Amino acid sequence: MPVLATVLGHPRIGIARELKKALEAYWSGATPAESLLATAQEIRTRHWSMMKQAGLDQIPCNDFSLYDHMLDMAVTVGGIPARFEKIANPLNRYFAMARGVQDRGAGIDLSPLEMTKWFDTNYHYIVPELRPDQTFVLDPTKIIAELAEAQALGMAPRPVLPGPVTFLKLSKYAEDVEGVDTLELLPRLLPVYEELLALLAGHGVTSVQLDEPCLCFDLDPASTQAYRTALTRLAGTAKRPALLVATYFGSIGDNLALVTESGCEALHLDLVRAPSDLDSVLAALPAGMKLSLGIIDGRNIWRADLEQAHRMVRRAVATLGAERVMIATSCSLLHVPVDLDAETRLDAELKNWMAFAAQKVAEVCLLADAAEQEEPQGAPFEQASAALARRRAAAAADNPAVRHRAGQVTEAMSRRSAPFAERSAKQKRRFDLPLLPTTTIGSFPQSREVREARSRWRSGALDSEGYQDFMRTEIGRCIEKQENLGLDVLVHGEFERTDMVEYFGEQLDGFAFTQNGWVQSYGSRCVKPPVLYGDVARPRPMTVEWSTFAQSLSKRPVKGMLTGPVTILQWSFVRNDQPRSETCRQIALALRDEVADLEQAGIAMIQVDEPAIREGLPLRRRDWPEYLAWAVAAFCLSTAGVSDETQIHTHMCYSEFGDILPSIVAMDADVLSIESSRSRMELLSHFRLHGYPNDVGPGIYDIHSPRVPTVEEMTTLLELAAEVLPAERLWVNPDCGLKTRGWPEIEASLGNMVQAAREIRRRL
Ligand code: GLN
Ligand code: ZN
Repeated sequence: MPVLATVLGHPRIGIARELKKALEAYWSGATPAESLLATAQEIRTRHWSMMKQAGLDQIPCNDFSLYDHMLDMAVTVGGIPARFEKIANPLNRYFAMARGVQDRGAGIDLSPLEMTKWFDTNYHYIVPELRPDQTFVLDPTKIIAELAEAQALGMAPRPVLPGPVTFLKLSKYAEDVEGVDTLELLPRLLPVYEELLALLAGHGVTSVQLDEPCLCFDLDPASTQAYRTALTRLAGTAKRPALLVATYFGSIGDNLALVTESGCEALHLDLVRAPSDLDSVLAALPAGMKLSLGIIDGRNIWRADLEQAHRMVRRAVATLGAERVMIATSCSLLHVPVDLDAETRLDAELKNWMAFAAQKVAEVCLLADAAEQEEPQGAPFEQASAALARRRAAAAADNPAVRHRAGQVTEAMSRRSAPFAERSAKQKRRFDLPLLPTTTIGSFPQSREVREARSRWRSGALDSEGYQDFMRTEIGRCIEKQENLGLDVLVHGEFERTDMVEYFGEQLDGFAFTQNGWVQSYGSRCVKPPVLYGDVARPRPMTVEWSTFAQSLSKRPVKGMLTGPVTILQWSFVRNDQPRSETCRQIALALRDEVADLEQAGIAMIQVDEPAIREGLPLRRRDWPEYLAWAVAAFCLSTAGVSDETQIHTHMCYSEFGDILPSIVAMDADVLSIESSRSRMELLSHFRLHGYPNDVGPGIYDIHSPRVPTVEEMTTLLELAAEVLPAERLWVNPDCGLKTRGWPEIEASLGNMVQAAREIRRRL
């Protein structure tokens, strides 16, 4: 038996985002369900055929989803919260769980399930909502239908399922119930998995992929026990397909025995994230167990180093024999765009360094075909080596000045010149703000006119002068509205930005942009991450003109607004030929210059947003300190060059800092604004616990909903905040930017917010 080639999953959205368009057309009522389902089937058929033609031996199925794979699994096991049961149509019920339904006329208002980030990616999954008395009932409709579809095309696909432990660990209990740990439900859930496995076997399935990325976490004893129980129990199912336990996004490390002792047939490792797992696993794999080598990076867009990958394959083949080795992508290809061939405008050299899903499938096949050759031969290997050599040469010659400067960074550059107390006193004198100053997070509504003006300017239909005029008018209107609302610290509104990372990437050297490089973020939402391929430099100021213009319109301070280095790194595809910390430092230096230019131009408050700091945390805790150290250092490097009188703000879109609060403290921003209107108590207790030392603006207005919060609601929240933090260190602001909202509701909400602040000032 030769070495088998496979992937853990394929992107779903389609090369031209067909799924997005079909979903949105269906949701808006423009098309019937049949059209949506037909499009979905076309996408699946196309992807299966592509994978088969490329030569994959095992093709995944059930990796497709109309919205999300965790939501699919919730439906498959009957985990449907009671409030949705009255929706009879399964498709509408499914979308209601994902997006909620609101029909004020009919008195229907169902809030959707929560959504949260999938491990350390920018993909968001739907969090299954369970109850301690949950019963599970198998509904295999989707899995069986997709299986039958693939079988009708002559394939023998491998269904992909979130494994039972990962499923439960990523689920939560409904808010209104008492329950300790969703893992308690395992004994009730396992029979449904067993039933499903038997059913699949009955349908001719020979292999199933159980995704258990939680095996890459540090597990507490309860989770360890849950894994032991679940995997042995499923392996003991009488009539079942072979089980491939897939781990990814980190090292399986000390959890290895949970799989090797389970009786499952195969284990998948992420050898891109944890290359050193190969040798330890090869030494410990029980006789007969197969190993799937995740050596093609499913998280990034670079062409693989095929020679190096081949050497790993050879080590595995030498130890296990070809029949026990599989070649695969490190994780599902969900996290990369579909096909590089669709890029017609990328620089040819850069394009030659890259690989999207289609190219990665081909790399997997190549490695599998060459697995039994001592030295891989043939044009594809030679081309890959040549591309890599050219990429290395280009990197070496890229920007010596940037590298030199990065090499000269000292620790002192990441430290403000005085401690917070001293800075704060000087800033108070400079700004003379009232107690509980009011402000916003940065963006104001991006109306259709704003988006149109930007795209007409990009396409050349609007000249630069016309564009400048348009934007200046928008900024002027925005400043005027903020003044009328009575806000103390203003912003320019960010109308010139399509996206907070893209805007900076486009102005920095070292970034490139794709035309079709879409990656699913959640449901129908996609992002097109910039490609950070080279040394990062800032040829000219990026925001100074807009900021100084905005400041010229008001006597009140207008904050300069930048995206932080960690967030730019985290939301781009970044080079893999140097440590991420190094790349982050280069971005930080470019931002440091922007901060200096803003300060020089008279901007007295500068906000550097870092909403992605927490999402970059590695899965294993032992890797946290290193990550946090360089991430915090990068933020500080970008901000610490200013004088004591210049006020640095930062913003994060969450409030559960938990164990990383010391790192947030170390960022030493003068003012930190966070999201907190939903989880206020929790947040504030954290802050008290750790004695957060600088100024804080806990969001008191939930911007994720069009609801206008009342003055009373917000005064209550402010009073709560004032109980744990001295009022002198409190700011008043919404949870996040207002880009996606409408002006009427914002004016009402911000008006109430300002009134709430005034009310509390009177009371204190
Ligand atoms: N300044 C950005 C805005 O207001 C911050 C966005 C974010 O936190 N994700 O839109
Ligand atoms: Zn935010």
